[in-house]
Amino acid sequence: MLESGPCTIESEYQLFETARRVARAGARVLRGGAYKPRTSPYAFQGMGLDGLKLLRAAGDETGMATVSEVMEISQIEGMLPYVDILQVGARNMQNFNLLAALGQVRKPVLLKRGMSATIQEWLLAAEYIMSGGNYDVILCERGIRTFETYTRNTLDISAIPVVHKLSHLPIIGDPSHASGRRNKVIPLARAIVAAGGDGVLIEVHHDPEKALCDGPQSLYPEQFARLMDELRIIVPAVGRTI
Ligand code: PEP
Ligand code: MN
Repeated sequence: MLESGPCTIESEYQLFETARRVARAGARVLRGGAYKPRTSPYAFQGMGLDGLKLLRAAGDETGMATVSEVMEISQIEGMLPYVDILQVGARNMQNFNLLAALGQVRKPVLLKRGMSATIQEWLLAAEYIMSGGNYDVILCERGIRTFETYTRNTLDISAIPVVHKLSHLPIIGDPSHASGRRNKVIPLARAIVAAGGDGVLIEVHHDPEKALCDGPQSLYPEQFARLMDELRIIVPAVGRTI
């Protein structure tokens, strides 16, 4: 999975080009944030419906499924034509009304771990979705708040084997939001896969210096392609296929 943040209509061409490059490298799902949970109300808030339309078009052209974050119940219906997977972000992991509403949807939900949530709280959040009858929940470890400030969050690698023990749900890892730093994304992605993670969610941008959101953690497309080549070596070593 990846996020290619075009953020402006002008960079539409680059979005499609980046989508083609990551698809060629082996990405299966294209992620783009249309309604973005920004810490500052003055930061870029996402392209909304226009962004979702671009995401769908790029996903269709490249044969990738699409995923985007849903922030509130009222957005669900309008998003359904454009996304194959609905993401619940870290800040909404315990928005129980949103989780219950997603329990009524028949599309997979990517549930990110809250930045201060225990594994138990996270699994109970997943139960809110499943108890409504939607059993397609994918968990995503995206780093937790600790005393360490060098990285944006601390990737909790141990969550991967713990969740595999406690639950049947797939768990992927997000080294991009966990570290917040491009040069830490690749080693953490290797670790996620080596620990048995079922996937990685990685932000990619054709020109990260100009990205309106999360540029410092976005890989260049060629870095992503190299990482995928490395993962093709690590994955069979832990008895999985890619
Ligand atoms: C995101 O996935 O774009 C995002 C904002 O991440 P998180 O909810 O993990 O902070
Ligand atoms: Mn992001």
